[in-house]
Amino acid sequence: MFNKVLIANRGEIALRIIRACRELGIKTVAVYSTSDEFSLHRKFADEAVCIGPADSKSSYLNIPSIISAAELTDSDAIHPGYGFLSENSDFSKICNDNNISFLGPSSDTIDVMGNKAKAKSTMKDCGVPVVPGSDGIVGSVDDAIRICDEMKFPVMLKASSGGGGKGLRVVENKGDIKDAYLSAQAESLASFNDDSIYVEKYIQNPRHIEIQILADKEGNVVSLGERECSIQRRNQKILEESPSPIVNKEIRDEMSLISCDAVKKIGGYVGAGTIEYLLDKNNDFYFMEMNTRIQVEHPITEMVTGVDLIKNQILSHAGFTIPSWMNSISPRGHSIECRITAEDPYNNFMPSPGKISSIHLPSGMGVRIDTHIYEGYEISPYYDSMIAKIIVHAPTREESINRMKSVLTECVIEGVSTIIPYQLHILNNHKFINGDYDTSFLNKLN
Ligand code: ADP
Ligand code: ADP
Ligand code: MG
Repeated sequence: MFNKVLIANRGEIALRIIRACRELGIKTVAVYSTSDEFSLHRKFADEAVCIGPADSKSSYLNIPSIISAAELTDSDAIHPGYGFLSENSDFSKICNDNNISFLGPSSDTIDVMGNKAKAKSTMKDCGVPVVPGSDGIVGSVDDAIRICDEMKFPVMLKASSGGGGKGLRVVENKGDIKDAYLSAQAESLASFNDDSIYVEKYIQNPRHIEIQILADKEGNVVSLGERECSIQRRNQKILEESPSPIVNKEIRDEMSLISCDAVKKIGGYVGAGTIEYLLDKNNDFYFMEMNTRIQVEHPITEMVTGVDLIKNQILSHAGFTIPSWMNSISPRGHSIECRITAEDPYNNFMPSPGKISSIHLPSGMGVRIDTHIYEGYEISPYYDSMIAKIIVHAPTREESINRMKSVLTECVIEGVSTIIPYQLHILNNHKFINGDYDTSFLNKLN
């Protein structure tokens, strides 16, 4: 087992990892930027090291600084959380070259699965249905025009290194390809330092369904079921639920089997991972991408399966075998997560950084709030605007929705704007209540 884990992240996920380590008897090291001096992850870890100024490139993305902090504190493993360096294959390699266990896949695996165009061809070879599209990268505007023409419109241009909804463009007709291609390329270069683009058929009104997997060093791979993440704003998830209102046992078992088989075929995968699919009206599903890390919405799976994903992710990397009972888990009850961002829903979702002047977060049966904010905390403009994840669990979907509405109504966060009113608006919508929605839901919501 690891003796000391350094957490190369901040915010709620850093706290979540500290708590899992503490329960496992592992010591923790926080790293923080100068603007996170008063953060809870710094306060609650056993040790803390300042790794640079506020700007992420100089701190949470600064590999030499993070490796030095690990060496200084004699850490034997690094947990990357999500975002930042979590899917950076160089970082995985540098950790291992320095005899520090990277709590994520090997750099070779990240290389194959982290690049979205490469991952698609790998999965296709493994027998997984993929969204139809270009075979790999499309190198020029002219090639894009030719391929899109063959594929019929609408199509989607996608950045191979994209994430967090960035570098995606829907194109309805030939005349729009050039502008879309060049702007997706520029956005991707600026965000991910890579301008490679691939093309996919744009699936009309699909549902985003993803499968959570866990793998150990002996080659065991289990599925912990699906999450429905179709409630998206600008292709970014804001509310997730498990189980999905439309996925029955038959679809769940089929998606799980295909996902686990593919991960076994890739070989050498260790830890947690998520395989994202689009599911169409005929219940046909197509692989979209794999996230080789823990995801933001992992708590809803924890609530319905009772499996602590972070603890089990760490245990898998430490060489423990996945217990066989995890092969036959079915979801118990229903769970919803609302991402709470500091943005103003009444002013085009403008980020709203600033000081939390007053806060009241409810608690009670089936209520879990993963957050790093507190009264007096200053939300920094430098990082992601997510300030809390509110998660509920109840025996049925209806009770789960009612519980979430009750919790959100009682929540008080003053000093900044939050999207709580918008989340309540979604939860009160009759189509949402009936489970009758797809990824276009928020575009149509008045
Ligand atoms: P999830 O499926 O876990 O919700 P998201 O795509 O919403 O994943 O991303 C989670 C977090 O990680 C967000 O803060 C997002 O901005 C960030 N992120 C995702 N992909 C990347 C990437 N390739 N590079 C940098 N940050 C990323
Ligand atoms: P990211 O890496 O930013 O998470 P994804 O490839 O997972 O990007 O896509 C994000 C979202 O964009 C999906 O959940 C879905 O709503 C939409 N999307 C992506 N590809 C397609 C497609 N081919 N057809 C329709 N919608 C798509
Ligand atoms: Mg995705």
